[in-house]
Amino acid sequence: MPRSATKTRPSAGTAPTSYASPLRYESTRMHAAALYCSDGRVGEHFDDFLQNGLSLPRYDRLCLPGGPACLAGYPQAHLEEQGVVDELKFLVEVHRLRRVVLIAHASCAFYAVRLELKEPRLELVQRADLVRAAALVHRVTGIHAIDAYFARLVDGEVSFEPVPV
Ligand SMILES: [Zn+2]
Repeated sequence: MPRSATKTRPSAGTAPTSYASPLRYESTRMHAAALYCSDGRVGEHFDDFLQNGLSLPRYDRLCLPGGPACLAGYPQAHLEEQGVVDELKFLVEVHRLRRVVLIAHASCAFYAVRLELKEPRLELVQRADLVRAAALVHRVTGIHAIDAYFARLVDGEVSFEPVPV
């Protein structure tokens, strides 16, 4: 369908029958994936950081509540861990993944609700979990290029700090 046929914006309250994204499709893979929390309040910030801060356009996304927390050995996230490990192995095999970026973020509901952790201890636990998650990613994929970051909320902005792993 020509793009012009789908350009009309739907009026408020009307579901569009089709939508053509104005973004160009690029088939080249980046061979990089990021694992982060599915929290929609920071999704665009994660995208901006990975695409512009780390120069990784078209990176593969692994998003679920808590992100890397599911690879830190918590029994409450055992099923999620199995799923993410399977997905990582798939991406290594099919997308020839060579780099993984792990991001934890402040005010993460997974830690507050599922793990019942509170500040100020929370950030320390999240940083330690990034180290554990990186070790597991390396163990199950053999990938050496694993970077971790902590996303902090400061005056309405989201800043990304590297965490040694
Ligand atoms: Zn979160």
